[in-house]
Amino acid sequence: MKLQLHKAFGRETSVSEHIRPAEAKDQREMSEHLRMLAHAVMQTDDAVMITTVFGIIQFVNPAFERYTGYCAQEAVGRTPALVKSGEHPSVFFAELWKTVRNGKVFRAVFTNRHKSGKIYYEEKTITPIRDAGEEITHFVSTGRDVSSRVLAEARLDYLAHYDVLTQLPNRRLFMTRLDLAISRCQRDSTKFALLFIDLDRFKRINDALGNAAGDKMLAKVASRLCEIAHVPGSVARLGGDEFTIIFESSKSLKTGSQLAEALIAAFADPFEIEDRELFTGISIGIAAYPDDGEDIESLIRHADIAMHQAKSQGRSTYVNFSPVMEGGTPEDLSIEASLRSALKNAEFEVYYQPIVRPGDQRIVAVEALLRWHSPQHGEVPPSRFITMLEETGLIAPVGRWVLETACAEIKALEQPGLEPVILAVNISGRQFRDGKLINDVRHILQTTGLAAAQLELEITESILIEDASAAGKTLVELAALGVRLAIDDFGTGYSSLSYLRRFPINTLKIDRSFVTEMESSPDAVAIVKTIISLADNLGLEIVAEGVETAGQLALLSAFGCAKLQGYLFSRPLPLAGFSRLLNPPGAGYVTEMAGSGEEALKLVVR
Ligand code: C2E
Ligand code: MG
Ligand code: MG
Repeated sequence: MKLQLHKAFGRETSVSEHIRPAEAKDQREMSEHLRMLAHAVMQTDDAVMITTVFGIIQFVNPAFERYTGYCAQEAVGRTPALVKSGEHPSVFFAELWKTVRNGKVFRAVFTNRHKSGKIYYEEKTITPIRDAGEEITHFVSTGRDVSSRVLAEARLDYLAHYDVLTQLPNRRLFMTRLDLAISRCQRDSTKFALLFIDLDRFKRINDALGNAAGDKMLAKVASRLCEIAHVPGSVARLGGDEFTIIFESSKSLKTGSQLAEALIAAFADPFEIEDRELFTGISIGIAAYPDDGEDIESLIRHADIAMHQAKSQGRSTYVNFSPVMEGGTPEDLSIEASLRSALKNAEFEVYYQPIVRPGDQRIVAVEALLRWHSPQHGEVPPSRFITMLEETGLIAPVGRWVLETACAEIKALEQPGLEPVILAVNISGRQFRDGKLINDVRHILQTTGLAAAQLELEITESILIEDASAAGKTLVELAALGVRLAIDDFGTGYSSLSYLRRFPINTLKIDRSFVTEMESSPDAVAIVKTIISLADNLGLEIVAEGVETAGQLALLSAFGCAKLQGYLFSRPLPLAGFSRLLNPPGAGYVTEMAGSGEEALKLVVR
């Protein structure tokens, strides 16, 4: 019995010290203790395995049998490789043997294989056992099954680093990989390209077909990107419809531009979603390491700037970053300086673009559009200076000036017997939020005498989404003044349509891009039709922007769109030109307009 204990559980002295030393002398009590120990080992819920110094299994307990699926007879005489999964590299076992042969304890979570082939995880402690002469005679391994914990951790880790919808790395993992790519390329003096990819107007798919279809589309987009980019793990989804690729040239594709071209070509093919063929273009911005940035932040910022540049150039295109794209180029700075004195120097003018109804094409409304005639820079388009006005805070005085000028000028055009037109004025986000808008509008309506019901303020969807409760309050106050409210560029912004019910909106202006695409894309037609019927259901008026062709006019009339705006009818005109359109000599109203540009207008007057 003594021998057995010694053999199995370690040095006699340590055992007897451990178990009631005073009583251990007695032979009968000793065998009691041994029985207790044997029971403990046999009944513990931890797997116990004892091997020789050569790793031959001599003993396993019932818990071992349960965990591994091997009975004692099958295990004894074999080595622990019996449950080897092949998941650990050989250095892992080398380290294990080195540690225990040096008489130290080895602890680790082992990935093992059950007899059935199933993987399980065992948190294991391997302890060398010494005899009375300090010689290592055996190793004892105790372990417990921690599979559920390990799997939960792995799941959490996956969720923290992967996007569940597309199975692609998420923003966090992308950042880590970008950091690794920078370190590697820095060490090897090599280059890579960072591609920022954004789907063109993906929101319209979500809006028209629902989020489930949108999700399917994103998953298919992800696999198509991976197919073309080739290198596993290089494609990531940042969120929404934004993807990235970290690209270190391949055999067939050498540069970021070549990859971008291949991607754009691949997106010319449709995606099959719920028995429909859907198309989406992609806009790509490229920043190269190290030329366009040597750290994570500047590479991401520059690829993003290039991507937005690609978007503004139209669909399905790519742009390589260039430093002139960053704000604050010398030209921008000089434009900004001139802009500061433009109001004082009377360089601004309000132009007017008519909005007509189909059929008789009578002018029912007009949009005020700001123009800047700069002595230094010539005609600067609003796309260039409106953002600058917002960034510098100049939008407050300039916006107020536009509102006041337009209200006064349109009021002055009123004639007895002629139905007054509605005046639409664009309001920027900053103006909307600065708190003075309500008072300004009230004051301007009083001083100019324009009827509140004749003024329509155009805001963008983003204003409503960014701070819905504050925006709602302002909208309610504006509505209380009696002015009308329109959502400009509708369909390009955010997917939530719920706000349309919540806010006192009168009009939706369908974004020009949908109107432009209608003749070539059935999707655009579906979207325009959906927006029109949505507006009908909600009792909203609808204006289609950017009508340029007779074909678009025909489609929009057929869909029942009540108001139309675009070059087909007239470009934005200075006050005098608009006044001639509105009150042509001989009275009546415009029955036919064609061409584009002030000169090209052909007026047929009744
Ligand atoms: P918006 O409010 O959506 O105005 C419509 C834009 O589409 C105008 O550009 C107009 O000239 C253009 N447009 C109209 N019909 C057609 C067409 O058939 N084809 C094409 N290709 N374009 C057409 P614009 O005047 O360059 O203004 C651009 C944007 O600048 C406006 O877009 C608006 O967001 C902003 N903006 C203009 N004036 C003001 C202003 O006084 N205040 C504020 N906050 N923003 C303004
Ligand atoms: Mg507008
Ligand atoms: Mg618009």
